Amino acid sequence: MPKSLSGRCLCGAITYEASGDPQIVAHCYCVDCRKSSGTGHGTHVMMPEGVVSVTGDLKLYDRPADSGNVVSRGFCGNCASPILSKNSAMAGMVFLRASSLDDPDAVSPSISVYASRAPKWDQVDDALPAFAEMPDGGPKAAMKAAMKAAPKAELD
Ligand SMILES: [Zn+2]
Ligand SMILES: [Zn+2]
Repeated sequence: MPKSLSGRCLCGAITYEASGDPQIVAHCYCVDCRKSSGTGHGTHVMMPEGVVSVTGDLKLYDRPADSGNVVSRGFCGNCASPILSKNSAMAGMVFLRASSLDDPDAVSPSISVYASRAPKWDQVDDALPAFAEMPDGGPKAAMKAAMKAAPKAELD
């Protein structure tokens, strides 16, 4: 049986299911993730769009990242919980917010990006490879680097 993930917003108006293992789980300490998170970073679970099904009326907020790529952030218009994002540089991928998972321990983060922007009170995990910014080549390059550093990071 493939693994499956499920999640919902705080009020339950938005729910989702995703089947299979995430391609990468990353902490991002960029300002936009911090501001939209309620704490010092966002934790993103990357899955192919085709395995994720969302129910409910997701509101979208589009904003260019440092790279110029547009990040589209999906949240609940009723309770404002962040649910997922998409990146114009990563067509076909969805980044679920780990905060919205029904079981947050169903995933294990394997890298940190924009670690240099972490607030002093939100410690970057020393046990994981960390990039001061986004590596050249964007999220795809970060994923490759993480897989090189910890090839089994995504296996159970
Ligand atoms: Zn909601
Ligand atoms: Zn970010």
